[in-house]
Amino acid sequence: MVVIGAGQAGLSVSFYLKRLGLDPGNDFVVLDRGPGTGGAWQHRWDSLRLGSAHRVNDLPGMDELGVSFETADRTLPAREVVADYYARYEQHYGFQVVRPASVTAVETRGLNLAVSFSNGVTEQDVTTDIVVNATGTWGSPFIPWYPGRDDFGGLQLHTTDYVAAENLVDKDVVVVGGGTSAISFMMDLEGSAKSLTWVARRPIEFLGEGELNLEAGAAAVAAQDAAARAGRALPSIVSGTGIPRTRRMQAAIDRELLVARPMFSAIEPDGVRWADGTFQHADVILWATGFRPELRHLAPLKLREREGGVTVAAGASWKDPRIFFAGYGPQASTIGANRAGRTIARQVIASLSKM
Ligand SMILES: Cc1cc2nc3c(=O)[nH]c(=O)nc-3n(C[C@H](O)[C@H](O)[C@H](O)COP(=O)(O)OP(=O)(O)OC[C@H]3O[C@@H](n4cnc5c(N)ncnc54)[C@H](O)[C@@H]3O)c2cc1C
Repeated sequence: MVVIGAGQAGLSVSFYLKRLGLDPGNDFVVLDRGPGTGGAWQHRWDSLRLGSAHRVNDLPGMDELGVSFETADRTLPAREVVADYYARYEQHYGFQVVRPASVTAVETRGLNLAVSFSNGVTEQDVTTDIVVNATGTWGSPFIPWYPGRDDFGGLQLHTTDYVAAENLVDKDVVVVGGGTSAISFMMDLEGSAKSLTWVARRPIEFLGEGELNLEAGAAAVAAQDAAARAGRALPSIVSGTGIPRTRRMQAAIDRELLVARPMFSAIEPDGVRWADGTFQHADVILWATGFRPELRHLAPLKLREREGGVTVAAGASWKDPRIFFAGYGPQASTIGANRAGRTIARQVIASLSKM
C-alpha cells in the first residue's frame, strides 16, 4: 500500500501501520514531494515560531525520541524545528520516505491502483491495492475573485509566497484575510512596509489570552465533518472559532495596528476601492485567504461530487473503498491528523485482511 505525503497526517498513519504489524518500505511505502522533511512546515515563512499562536502536537510515539514540540526552541524558525523533529522521527521508526516523489496521478489499473510519481527528472509508477492520501493543503492556495483582480499592476502574493518582511520594504501593502496568518503578516510587516492596510470578510473575534473557544472549535470541526460526509466543499475553520490572542497580538491591538477594515469591493490597477468610494494605494496585495485540499492527482478516480468536495467519513472515501484521506476536513490540524492516523491505520488493516 502507498501513503502519499509525509506531513503530520502521513507520518501518524505510518506510525500506526507499523504498530499494527506492517513493515515500512516493504508492506507500505511513503511518497513525499519534499524536498525535505517537515511537511508543509518546511515552507513556512522565516519569522514563524512555535509558541502560543502556533502549537504543533507531538506525533504519536515521539516521546521515544526524547523530544517534544512543547519544549522546542521558540527562538528558531518553526520550519527548522519541525523539519528537524520529523527527520528524527522518520529515522527512528525507519519509514524510508521516498522524496522527492511528487504524485501526479492515481488511477485504476485492472483490480489495482497505479500511483504515478516524478522526482523532477524521471517518471515512475507503483501498483498498489490501497492508497492513503495525506497531501494537506499547502500545494493548493486559494485566492478569492474580486472585480479587477487580474488588472492589478502591483504584486499579488499568497501566504505560500511570503518569505520575509525585508522583501516588502517601503511598499504599500494590503493584507487580506481573517486568520492567524494575516495577523502574523501585519505584525511582521510593521516597520518595514510603507503603509499597511488589513481587510477581512468578517469582523475579527479576538478571544482572551490562551482562551480557546472550545464550543466554537468543536462546532467548526463538526461543520467540517458534516461537509466531508456530504461531499461538499469544506467551510473555512477560522471564521467559526475566533482567534486566541497572544500578548504580542494584544500589544498590536493596543497600538491600533490590528484594526481590520471590511473587504474592498474592487481592485484597480494601483490599489483597492471600497463600496463607499474610498481608495487605498497598493503596491502589494498579500492574500492570506487559505487553502483547498490538494487532490488534483486523484482526478482520474472521479471522486469529486457535484457538491464540490469528496465524500469522506472517518477518513474513508465513500465512493472508492481503496482510498483513505488522512488530515482531510475535520482532521486538518496536528491533533486531528494524529487521531486520523490511528483510525485510518485500523481501517486499512481491516481492508487488507479482507483482500
Ligand atoms: C500558516 C499555517 C499555520 C498553521 N499552524 C498550525 C498550528 O499551529 N497548529 C496546528 O495544529 N495546525 C496548524 N496548521 C494546519 C497544519 O497545516 C496542519 O495542522 C498539519 O501540519 C497538516 O498536516 P498534513 O500532514 O495534513 O499536511 P502537510 O503538512 O501539508 O503535509 C502534506 C505532505 O504531502 C506532500 N504532498 C502534497 N501533495 C503531494 C503529492 N501530489 N505528491 C507527493 N507528496 C505530496 C507535501 O509535500 C507534504 O509533505 C497551520 C496551517 C497553515 C497554513
